[in-house]
Amino acid sequence: MPRAKKHYGQHFLHERGIIERIVAAVAPRPGERLVEIGPGEGALTLPLLDKAGALTAIELDAELIEPLREKSKAHGDLTILHADVLETDLTALAGGGKLRLVGNLPYYVSSPILFHCLAHARAIADMHFMLQKEVVDRMAAAPGGKTYGRLSVMLQLACTVEPLLRVPAGAFRPPPQVESAVVRLVPLSPPQLPPTELMPSIEGIVRAAFGQRRKTLANALSGTLDAEAIRAAGIDPRARAETLAPGQYVALARSGLAR
Ligand code: SAM
Repeated sequence: MPRAKKHYGQHFLHERGIIERIVAAVAPRPGERLVEIGPGEGALTLPLLDKAGALTAIELDAELIEPLREKSKAHGDLTILHADVLETDLTALAGGGKLRLVGNLPYYVSSPILFHCLAHARAIADMHFMLQKEVVDRMAAAPGGKTYGRLSVMLQLACTVEPLLRVPAGAFRPPPQVESAVVRLVPLSPPQLPPTELMPSIEGIVRAAFGQRRKTLANALSGTLDAEAIRAAGIDPRARAETLAPGQYVALARSGLAR
């Protein structure tokens, strides 16, 4: 068995109970376009294949591909793409349908992978991802607390975020330094999404607001939005970034554009 490679973020799941719970949460069915990011040695791939019959996996580490192809033969029809998921056009892979993405993600690139997936959200039915628990907490956080930030707002404007289970470090070989968690993300339907043309403005405002989260919005956003524009969005300019719901950032961006 090849050694787990740190630079590829390899931590292989071995705990049967956790694997079963993840597969049950995904509940794949034949005919769905199931895609796994980073199949590794197949801990999730093989039980997913047993249920779905077919699956496409995207793996960056060439050494893992042949052994996985061999192992998969008794389980179903596995297509392995030797590629970096960040360079993979998920919309093209969906071929006009919608993908169901699954992955015990490499933590060193988990945020870029998340944002890459969100950029292809219209081609995605849902995502079940293993991430650092601390990241899942930030993704799912409600306004008002310290964990609520840029990641919470940007994710919640794009999809529903549902933490599913906590996973202790001992469930992996080798164990990571941190606790992990599995989250389900379901992209919102287009009418629920902020208009595409507002997105750069929303991103800029969210970045500026949380960049100086201890300041009032009027101060943190000076140069981007004046107090009048903040008030016009129905928001008190003395409020702080962490008290605003995701939708209020959309209102701020609209107000800025209207002026
Ligand atoms: N799914 C396996 C499991 O649960 O045991 C392996 C999970 S391991 C945390 C992450 C996997 O992602 C590794 O197989 C690693 O080689 C692969 N990987 C790392 N970076 C990647 C990238 N940019 N694109 C695709 N796969 C990647």
